[in-house]
Amino acid sequence: MALYAELHRHLGGSVVPRVLWRYLERSSSKLLSRFADYSAFEEFFTRSRSTLDEYLELHTLVESVQNAESLPYFIYRLLRGAYIFENLAYLELRYTPYLRTPKHLSQSKRIDKMAEIVEVVGQASQLQEYPIVTSQILCMHSRLPYEVNKAIVDLAAQNTKYICGIDVAGGDSYYADRLSEWISLYDYARSLNVKTTGHLYETTAGCYPELLPYLMRIGHGIQIPLLYPELLKDVAKRGQCLEVCPTTYLKTGTLEDIRQLKLVFDRCFDAGVDIAICTDNAGLHNVRLPFEYENLLTYDIINFQQLQACQDAAFRHAFAWPYGQRPASLLNGLLKPDPMKALAMRDN
Ligand SMILES: [Zn+2]
Repeated sequence: MALYAELHRHLGGSVVPRVLWRYLERSSSKLLSRFADYSAFEEFFTRSRSTLDEYLELHTLVESVQNAESLPYFIYRLLRGAYIFENLAYLELRYTPYLRTPKHLSQSKRIDKMAEIVEVVGQASQLQEYPIVTSQILCMHSRLPYEVNKAIVDLAAQNTKYICGIDVAGGDSYYADRLSEWISLYDYARSLNVKTTGHLYETTAGCYPELLPYLMRIGHGIQIPLLYPELLKDVAKRGQCLEVCPTTYLKTGTLEDIRQLKLVFDRCFDAGVDIAICTDNAGLHNVRLPFEYENLLTYDIINFQQLQACQDAAFRHAFAWPYGQRPASLLNGLLKPDPMKALAMRDN
């Protein structure tokens, strides 16, 4: 049995359209009046956008309904789906906790409330019936002020029970104005032993070589092999892994054809750079992790051997996978013990 690790999934984008629709119905949300029926809603929710900005607007819609009260509802359904349909053994869920706190509060009160949100997400993720190892990545946000982003790093350093790292999100074209700030935040995070990833080199407007040395993994990073392959040598040397999310690039207009990813994989394999294949926003895309794998095979972007190398890499680069091996090796001992012993145990 193959069990998978998912390293790049947003809490907001992981809600599948049907679950969000039911939630809006149950809570008699005013948002419903914007859509004639469910299929109009699903169409709106999952259609491709022409830019990353337009695509990220959708997150604000989901964020507006995710708060301390509703998060357990969404997380329960998210983990149930991930366990039943995606065979996930490990899941890192990322989000900006500040954006789940009540909007009417002051900035400092909202900062104080972030710890509660992390606790709610952490507790809601412990499900006996769907045993997936989960951890949280807190996203700093390109549109939030320094104080909030610093508080996000501090929270990640304090709560290692539920948090395994930090990220920066919100559109990679916006980092330019405050680049020294992002460098200092990442430097600060590393000084506190917080693990780091970051949305970088996703679009052509988001290429900042100055930030690369601070990251342990690179969120997307596809523009490195595509436009700056000369950087791959250092990426390999630093042992950084690319979190490649194939469907995203079509939904955001970053790539026109999924086959453009062949160059990404080929150049990374050649340079010895690991890739973890991820979904980013499985709900918004209506595409689950095994389908991302299958698509890459179908389009001859990678072969089975390369797929398995990427699946292994995901466990190796996971920030909070507690075992030395991927689950296949652990399960082999359970599922394929000595047949005579197994029979004897059964008959006793
Ligand atoms: Zn992302």
